[in-house]
Amino acid sequence: MASLYEKPITELRGVGEKRGKQFQRLGVPTVGDLIRFYPRAYQDLSRPLPIRQAPVGELCAVRATVLRRPAETRVKGGAVLYKTTVTDGESDMALTFFNNPYVVNTLLEGEDYIFYGKVSANFLKREMLSPEYFPASACLAIRPIYRQTQGLNSRAILAAVKQALALLPRPMRDPIPQGLRQAQGLCSLAFALENIHLPSSQEALAQARRRLIFEELLVLQLGLLKMKSRGKQRTSLTAPRDCLEEFWGLLPFAPTGAQRRAAAEAAADMASGFPMNRLVQGDVGSGKTAVAAALCYQAAGNGLQAALMAPTELLARQHYATLSRFFQGAGVETVLLTGSTPKKEKRQALARLAEGSAAVAVGTHALLSQEVVFRRLGLVVTDEQHRFGVAQRAALAEKGDSPHLLVMSATPIPRTLALMIYGDLDLSVLDELPPGRQPVATYAISGEKRLRAFRFIQKHAAMGKQSYIICPMIDEAGDDRASVTDYAKRLREEWLPGLSIGELHGRMKPGEKEAVMAAFAQGRLDVLVSTTVVEVGVDVPNAVIMMVENAERYGLSQLHQLRGRVGRGRDKSYCILVTDAQNQEAQARMQVLCATNDGFQVADQDLRLRGPGDFFGQRQHGLPELKIADMAQDMEVLRQAQAAARQILEEDFALSLPEHRGLRGQVALLFRGLEGS
Ligand code: ADP
Ligand code: MG
Repeated sequence: MASLYEKPITELRGVGEKRGKQFQRLGVPTVGDLIRFYPRAYQDLSRPLPIRQAPVGELCAVRATVLRRPAETRVKGGAVLYKTTVTDGESDMALTFFNNPYVVNTLLEGEDYIFYGKVSANFLKREMLSPEYFPASACLAIRPIYRQTQGLNSRAILAAVKQALALLPRPMRDPIPQGLRQAQGLCSLAFALENIHLPSSQEALAQARRRLIFEELLVLQLGLLKMKSRGKQRTSLTAPRDCLEEFWGLLPFAPTGAQRRAAAEAAADMASGFPMNRLVQGDVGSGKTAVAAALCYQAAGNGLQAALMAPTELLARQHYATLSRFFQGAGVETVLLTGSTPKKEKRQALARLAEGSAAVAVGTHALLSQEVVFRRLGLVVTDEQHRFGVAQRAALAEKGDSPHLLVMSATPIPRTLALMIYGDLDLSVLDELPPGRQPVATYAISGEKRLRAFRFIQKHAAMGKQSYIICPMIDEAGDDRASVTDYAKRLREEWLPGLSIGELHGRMKPGEKEAVMAAFAQGRLDVLVSTTVVEVGVDVPNAVIMMVENAERYGLSQLHQLRGRVGRGRDKSYCILVTDAQNQEAQARMQVLCATNDGFQVADQDLRLRGPGDFFGQRQHGLPELKIADMAQDMEVLRQAQAAARQILEEDFALSLPEHRGLRGQVALLFRGLEGS
C-alpha cells in the first residue's frame, strides 16, 4: 500500500496529463491518495421500488424496462427534448431528458435499467426528469459519489478508483495490529477500502466506515501524544523562583481568581524540570494577556527569555504596548519584532535578544525567522492559537532547548473535546471575567433601522464613547478597501457628519494601520469603520458599540469575537447586528447571540447550526485535515482511539515493533503537510 503513494495518478489508464491536473486539484496526486479519496456520499440503488410506490418529490431508484427508443422533440428556444416511456410490468413512467442526444443510443428498447431521480406525478402518469440510469445487469447496488471538480465528474473518478483498487497488494498488510482489531471489532483494511468505495451492502459500508474512522483518529492521537511526550524529556530550563506575586503587584488591577489559577498552573509546569505544553482557554475579555505577561515575567525573573507571538501585526503591537506598560520600572526589557520593524531597530532588537539583555520578544511570525536568535529562550507563548498550526508551535520551540510552551486560545470549546483535539496540551481554563463587566446587550436589526443605529452611535459619541462598524468584504479577491472607504465616506457626508471617522482595511500599510489604531485607542476617533481585522484581540475599553453590517455573512464564533471588542470596560456596551437575511438559519444564529454572552454556549450552538466539519476546519485548530472522521460527530470513537493510542505508546513509544511499523508510516503521512510549513 505504501508504495502506491509513489505511483503518480497518471499511471492509471485513461488518466493523462490533463486528467492528472484535475486530480491534483482534488488533492489526489498519487494512486495511494486516490484510494484514500473516500466518497462524500452514496446512492442506494440496492432496493429499487416499483413505479407505483416511488415517493413523489424524493430521490429514489426505480427498476424498469424501456418500452421504445427515446424520441426527439424540438421546443421553442432551441432546446431538444428526448422522451420515452418505461414500465415495470404493472405501471408505466415517462422519462424526459433535455439536450442529451446520448440517451438515444444508451437507453435500449427492451432492456432493464435502474433509474435514479425525483419522481413527479399527475392524475395520469408518473414522470422522471433527466434521471441517472444504469444497466440493471451491471449496476452496483450502492453507488459512491465523489467530490467532483471542473471536468472531472464522479463517474470518471469511480473508473479510476476501480483500477486503483485492483492494484492493491493481496494479501495486504494492515497497519492496525490484529489484537487491537479484534478487541475493537474492526474489519481488515482490505475489506474497508473495498467497501468504502464499492459497498456490497449498507452493513459492509458501516463496518468499513467505522474501521477507517478509528484508524484515522488513532493515527491522529498517536501523532499528538508523541508530540506531547516531548514533555517526558527533561529540560534544563527551569524557573523555580516564584515571581507571580511580584508581578500582580505591577498591575493596575487585581487579578481574577481564574487568572491567578492559570498562571500558577503554568508556573508550576515551568518549575518542574519538564517542558510545559499548556493551553489557556478563555472567553473574549477574560484577561489572557495579563496571564501571558505574568509568565513572561516569571521567565525573566528566573534568567530565561520569553517570546510572545501574535497572529497579526496589530495585535503584536498592542501586546508590546501592554507588556511595556506592565514591566515599566521593573527592569524587564521588551522588544518588538514584526515584518515591518525598520531595519535599524530590528538590528538592535536582534542584538539585544542574542546577547540576552532583552528578556522578552513580542512579535508576529517574524519571530520564527532564522535570524532571530535567543541567548536563553525559556518560554514561548502564542496568542489566539487557532491561527497557528502545530508545526509553527514546533518551529518556535526549536529556537531553544525544549522551551516551555503556552498557547492561548479564544475559541471556547467543550473541555473534553479540547483535551482530545489538543491532545498534545494540558489545559487551563479562564472561567471568570474581571469584575464589573456587564453583558453586552445584543440586538439584531434590519437595514431599515440603520439610521436609528447611527443616532445611537452619535448619542454615545457625544458622551465621549466610541464605536466600531464592521463592513463586509465585497470583492471576491479579498480587496476590502472599497467597502470600507465608501462606507466611511457616506458616514462623513451623510449619516454622521461632524464625528471623526477612521478606517481600517487589509490593503493599508502596517504603519498606516498602526496610526489609525493608535488614534482610536487614544480616543481621537469616534468611529472606526473596519473589516474583520479587529476581530482578534484588539483592546480599546472606551469603545462601547459594535455594529456589524451583513452580520449573516459571519460564523457565530466570529461574531462573538467581534462582539468581544466591546464590553471590555465598566460601561454598558452594545452589539448591533444588521441583517436583511430572511432565512431561518441566519435568524437563528442572530438569536443565539442576542440570547447569550457566554462563549462556550455560543460555540456549542455554532457546532449545532453549522455542523462540525466547518467548525473544526483546519483553520481553527491547525491540525492535519481528516478525510473521514469528524471529531465532534465521532466523539465516542475518538475516545476509544485515544485510549488505544495511549496503550500502544506505553508499550512501544518509538513505534518500532514490527506490528507498529504500519502505524508509524501513517503518522508520518498524516503529519507530512505540516512539517516545515
Ligand atoms: P482577552 O482574554 O480577550 O485577550 P485581554 O487580555 O485583552 O482579554 O483583557 C481584556 C481587558 O480586560 C483589558 O483591557 C485588560 O486590561 C482588562 N483586564 C484584564 N484582567 C483584568 C482584571 N483582573 N481586572 C480588571 N481588568 C482586567
Ligand atoms: Mg487576547
